[in-house]
Amino acid sequence: MIFRGGRRLRFFFLACLMLLASPCPAFTSFGEFSIRDELELARKFDLVIETRFPVVHDTRITGYVQSLVDRLVAAMPPQPFPIKTTVVRNGSLNAFASAAGHITIFTGLIANFDTEDELASVIAHELAHVSERHIAKSIEKSKLVGAGSLLGILAGVLVGSQGGGDGAGALVLGSVAGAKAMQLKYTRDNEKDADQYGLNYLVDADFSPAGMTSAFDKIRRMQWLGGGGNVPSYLSTHPGMDERLVYMQERIARLPEAVRKRSSDNASFERAKLLVQAWYSDPNTARAVFQSTGFTSCAPVLGEAIALSRLNQIQAAGKRFDDALACNPADLLWKREYGRFAFEYGDLLAAVNSLQEVVLREPEDLFALFFYARAVAEQGNHAVSITAMERVLKAVPRDAEVLEHLARFQAEVGRAFEAHLNFAKSFAYKRQFGKYDFHMQKSETLARSTSEQDQLRKAREEISEFREILGI
Ligand SMILES: [Zn+2]
Repeated sequence: MIFRGGRRLRFFFLACLMLLASPCPAFTSFGEFSIRDELELARKFDLVIETRFPVVHDTRITGYVQSLVDRLVAAMPPQPFPIKTTVVRNGSLNAFASAAGHITIFTGLIANFDTEDELASVIAHELAHVSERHIAKSIEKSKLVGAGSLLGILAGVLVGSQGGGDGAGALVLGSVAGAKAMQLKYTRDNEKDADQYGLNYLVDADFSPAGMTSAFDKIRRMQWLGGGGNVPSYLSTHPGMDERLVYMQERIARLPEAVRKRSSDNASFERAKLLVQAWYSDPNTARAVFQSTGFTSCAPVLGEAIALSRLNQIQAAGKRFDDALACNPADLLWKREYGRFAFEYGDLLAAVNSLQEVVLREPEDLFALFFYARAVAEQGNHAVSITAMERVLKAVPRDAEVLEHLARFQAEVGRAFEAHLNFAKSFAYKRQFGKYDFHMQKSETLARSTSEQDQLRKAREEISEFREILGI
């Protein structure tokens, strides 16, 4: 379930630290772990993250985070790998860098920070761990080389940390991995370097350096309050915060006044934060947060409407959506949220009208496209719904929910081969392998052309790799 809710997963953060490898020319000559291995590892790592972590696919959130990453990357020296960003739905104030230039950002940072500069600061710090090759060096030191063994450890820990259900072998592997992962922490010198280079990237990308001290101060204060659980905190993986804060303050004090006094426009940050709060926090808490603003602007009105709809208070939500649209009638985010609400509560005409405008004017909005496809399907327009859902699937090819909807639409119009194939994949990603086998057999009996045979072969390869990587 990607576009709403989703099961709350427990993370084993150190597992990910295992893979914080960045490109390093020395690597190519070290053991068998080459750049090619690292790229392959990164691809598989992606698969693990996508299928086991609640990854955010709302392009209005991910696109915003990516825009900050792009600005910072433009201020960095050239990197051998393109920087890729994943946003994960989790309330912790956390972030990490991983293999081949991947960074992962937790939504807790967006929910708890107040400015774009703060968010950019944490991203800049993680990007500095990538550019300074800290984890590559750590992996080298620990002699943990070989993409296969690293990935096995990661998958084992992830699967093992979720408390059974996927086999005892994974749990055993997990405990070994936990011990190994402990060897791969950042050192205090790594942190100092990441702060320094991160601050340079931040300043060169025209953000305010003050964001860095206020971000780390917030992380420090909030993790004293609410830390713990299964997720090692940002502080325990990024040690020495107290000294680092003092050091950073001193460095910032030496910057020119014009740089120190910069302040970013927070409008885009506020929109991303609105969505994170409205969709990914407890709806009662979210509602209280929006109410506490006194509704002096249009955004908390929309936020409250979304929170009410998540609480199934349909009438109250409907009224609040009317208020929100009256407050901000032309905004496509408002139209999208209203369209989704109208669809879920059966007003198909209003849903299609609202979502169609968003899809036409902002074709990259996956969330709008997903609900538009479903609303149009309910109206019986399968040609349009299939095309729209295929576009969503292209962006999120392993999303079980998207695969299932597309399969249903295809079944409606008698495209039985594709329907069974997509049902099969959908069940595989839900880890229901009995149903996967059933639909694969059906699609095998229906495959006629070479192209269909080819699709079958690719699906089998995709799913067997998925099973192999996750050990299921
Ligand atoms: Zn760090």
